[in-house]
Amino acid sequence: MKLYNFLSRQIEEFKPIGKTVNLYTCGPTVYDYVHIGNWRTFVFEDILKRVLTFNDYEVKHVMNLTDIDDKIIIKANEKKIPIQEFTEKYAKAFFADLSKLNILPADIYPRATESIDSMVDLIQKLLNKGIAYKGEDGIYFSVEKFPGYGKLSGLDRKNLKRGARVDSDEYDKESWTDFALWKFPPSHKASEGKSLREPSWDAPFGAGRPGWHIECSAMSIAELGDPSIISGRKLENFRTIDIHTGGVDLLFPHHENEIAQSEAATGKKFVNYWMEGEHLLVEGEKMAKRLGNVYTPADIKKKGIDPLALRYLFLSAHYRSKLNFTWESLKAAQNALNNLRGEISNWEVPKIGCAEFEGKFKEAICDDLNMPQALAVMWEMVKSDYPASAKHQSILKMDEVLGLGFPDLKKIELPKGTKELIEKREELRKQSEFEESDKLRKELLEMGVEVEDTAKGPKWRIKK
Ligand code: AMP
Ligand code: ZN
Repeated sequence: MKLYNFLSRQIEEFKPIGKTVNLYTCGPTVYDYVHIGNWRTFVFEDILKRVLTFNDYEVKHVMNLTDIDDKIIIKANEKKIPIQEFTEKYAKAFFADLSKLNILPADIYPRATESIDSMVDLIQKLLNKGIAYKGEDGIYFSVEKFPGYGKLSGLDRKNLKRGARVDSDEYDKESWTDFALWKFPPSHKASEGKSLREPSWDAPFGAGRPGWHIECSAMSIAELGDPSIISGRKLENFRTIDIHTGGVDLLFPHHENEIAQSEAATGKKFVNYWMEGEHLLVEGEKMAKRLGNVYTPADIKKKGIDPLALRYLFLSAHYRSKLNFTWESLKAAQNALNNLRGEISNWEVPKIGCAEFEGKFKEAICDDLNMPQALAVMWEMVKSDYPASAKHQSILKMDEVLGLGFPDLKKIELPKGTKELIEKREELRKQSEFEESDKLRKELLEMGVEVEDTAKGPKWRIKK
C-alpha cells in the first residue's frame, strides 16, 4: 500500500519495520468538548488503521490524552476546579463520541499526567547531552544543537533566532526559537503577573510540569519505541516508530519539536512515516475553538442528524484536501447514508461477493487512502446488476474500512399490514390499475413506508 509521507513530501510504498505496525496518533487536549474539526483528524486516523488491518497488518495503536498544558491550566483556574476533575469530564465525553463515530479504540490511551516519569527521563537525557539547558523559568531545548531541526516542516535554518526562547506551547513559524521542555511553577518565574495555580511534579532538575511537546515524545517512546522499554528508561533501545499522525497544524512546531527531542535523546530516527490530515473549515477558515466557529457531535445530534452521517461526509473528501463544512453538505451525507441503508435492508443474506468491485475498492484505499474513490466504487457496486446477496457480502467487507455500521443494520421489519399492501399494490400495477395503486402508495407513506418501483419490482424503505 502507498502512503504520502510528509517527511519526504512524496507518496511512498509503505514498509513496516516489524510484524506489528506501530502507530502513534496525537490525541485530544481535554480542555473542552472535542469539535468536529478534531473528529475529522481522528476519523482519518481510524481509516488509516482500518486500511492497515484490511491489508493484514497487525497494528499497535497509541493515542495520548493531553491532560496538562497551558490551556488546561488557564481554563481550570477560571472555573476554580482541580485540573483532574476539569479534564475528566471532557475525556469521558471524548470516549462517548468516539464510539458514536464508530472509531475503533486505540490499544492504549496514555495520559500525560500519568507519564511524567518518562518525560523526566527524556529531559534528563537531553540535559546530560548538553542539548537542553536550564533557564530561569524552565528547562529549554536548544534548537541550535540539533542540526536536523526543520526537516519535517521544511523550514530554513535561517529562521533560527539565536538565544530566543518561548515557554508557550503553541507558537508560529516566525518564532523559531528554543522551546520549553519543563516549566517551573509560577513562583520560580522571573516574569511576574502569572499567578495561576499549576500542578507540579518533582524532578532532579527542579519541580515543575512538562511542556506539551515532550509529552508526545515521551509517551510514544515509552509505549511504542521498544517492548523492552519501560517508561522510556532504556532510551538507547529505542526502535523507530512506523507511523505518527495528527492534523496539519501540528506539523510545526509540535511534530518538529517531537522529532528534535526524540532523535536528540535516542540518536535514532524517531518516525518513518509522518501523516498529517488537512483541516475542516467553516466558511474558508479553520474550525478552531479560538475562532468560535466550532460544532460538536452533540450539536449535530440536536439537529436530528446521525453522527455516522458526519463520518460519511469526512469519507467523501481526501484526507489531504481541505473540507469546508456546511449543514447542507452534512444533510446530503445523511441522505446518501439513508439511501444506502434502505438499499441494504432490501438485500438478501450475504453470499459470495463481487470480486471485481472488492478489487477496485482495495486499489483505492491502498492509494494513500483514497476514500472518495472507494465510496464511488461502493456506489457503482450498489447500482450494479450483481445479485443482491453478492453485493451484501461485498459491502460488509468494504464496511470493515468505511466503518458506517452496516453489519449492525438488522433486517428492518416492515410495520404490520404494510407487506400485504405492497403486494396488493404490485398486483394492481400489473393490471395497470394505476389510480388504485397510487392510493395505496399514499396509504403506505402515511404508515411510514416509502415504495419505489424498479425494473426488478417494488423496493421499500422506512421513512425517517
Ligand atoms: P487538539 O485537541 O487541539 O490538540 O487537537 C486534536 C487533533 O485535532 C489534532 O490532531 C489537531 O491537529 C486536529 N485538529 C484541530 N483542528 C482541526 C480542524 N479544524 N480540522 C482537522 N483537524 C483539526
Ligand atoms: Zn502530540
